[in-house]
Amino acid sequence: MRALHPVTRRNVVGGLAASATALAFPHVAGAEPVARVAVIGGGFAGATCARALKRIDPKLDVTLIEPNRTFTACPFSNEVIAGLRDLEAQQFGYDRIAGEGVHVVAQTATRVDPPGRTVTLADGTTLSYDRLVLSPGIDLRFDALPGYDEAASAKMPHAWKAGEQTTLLRRQLEAMDDGGVVILAVPANPSRCPPAPYERASLIAHYLKTTKPRSKVLILDAKDAFPQQRLFEGAWKELYAGMIERISLSQGGRATSVDPATNTIVTEFGDHTAQVANVIPPQKAGRIADIAGAADNTGWCPIDPVTFASKLVSDIHVIGDACLGGGIPKSASAANAQGKACAAAVANLISGRAPDMPRLTGVCYNIVAPGHAFSLAGFYAPKDSIFVEVEGGGTSPVDAPREVRAREAEDARRWFTAITVDSFG
Ligand code: FAD
Repeated sequence: MRALHPVTRRNVVGGLAASATALAFPHVAGAEPVARVAVIGGGFAGATCARALKRIDPKLDVTLIEPNRTFTACPFSNEVIAGLRDLEAQQFGYDRIAGEGVHVVAQTATRVDPPGRTVTLADGTTLSYDRLVLSPGIDLRFDALPGYDEAASAKMPHAWKAGEQTTLLRRQLEAMDDGGVVILAVPANPSRCPPAPYERASLIAHYLKTTKPRSKVLILDAKDAFPQQRLFEGAWKELYAGMIERISLSQGGRATSVDPATNTIVTEFGDHTAQVANVIPPQKAGRIADIAGAADNTGWCPIDPVTFASKLVSDIHVIGDACLGGGIPKSASAANAQGKACAAAVANLISGRAPDMPRLTGVCYNIVAPGHAFSLAGFYAPKDSIFVEVEGGGTSPVDAPREVRAREAEDARRWFTAITVDSFG
């Protein structure tokens, strides 16, 4: 059933010929030429893109490479950490996508050879492609914060990729004594979902308020400002007075090292010891992007915003958190929008049509307590070779009544259902 394309002399030669002329795809005598698109990473960006490619042109041969048989979504995972939701509600399989004719291959991509246009998988299989979409999300930079390596994350969870880390942080909160301090160390931008640390701090405070009310949340921040700051700070005053403290960058909040043995986070102005330490380290594009040569020295992947084509390697497109999206925040909402726009661009390029000018929409809900949320919406378009925010977006008002916050919390749930159906079928 798996329509892999092991490299043979015939399709290597065919692949080389195809680079000379965009439409000369390798083909078996008598059969229609079929363009092959491989997508690495089946998260919000990649799953959406694979589905959209097949919808736009059912004749395309689309392969989605993703090692996990079940995807675990980050949006709403802060509710899992706060004990308001089960991890299973975050999980989605790939059966529907496979049912739509996408070849789903449960493997990690370990190598990309751009000149040969091949991808090697962990089991040693090699696939050839005409165009490759990279959507590997993020990797945590375990070399960026002294003391914080992969082993340290078993003691001081980041929970910035949903799954075991989410459950670990939840268990640590459950085991914590009343009166303990939970510390969140927040990195500078660019980072996955810039408002999510503050949503997390709010929902942890909700859990503590209802079960361990003498406890506190301390945010050690490598930034001075953050999205929807006035709304968050207003909610903290209203719902969690005296429970959440934030030390910003200019107040000395940036973590400079950690000691997992003592659960200590060091800043330029002092050491902070936590009962529960949630350390979110700096990030970069998923490793395969670097292996493919698509990441620059920032660790992220520069792209042409019209086609999502890599600026560094040919026939490769990069979408989702891994790309340098200019003004677009790294969010599931943006990843889903990029997945569709990239699919349209790839299909156009394959059939020799000019790509359309994309206009992307992103919406982000922040839940600060059950039934209490606010949102931020943005529109983005290419300008001067990056994405910039254009008119039309907006944020929830600072002084909205409780009913509006409750309605936004309902909207957030509807958004999650809609985006997961749209991405995973
Ligand atoms: P991912 O969804 O991470 O998918 C990447 C996939 O690539 C993974 O499945 C991975 O297994 C696969 N992969 C990686 N390397 C390889 C390889 N070598 N071979 C094959 N497969 C590979 N966004 C919102 O819009 N709204 C929210 O409310 C929201 N809340 C969030 C809360 C938290 C706590 C966090 C951490 C994030 C939140 N986000 C939210 C952000 C959102 O989760 C990400 O922006 C989104 O997941 C990015 O999609 P992606 O497809 O780029 O990456």
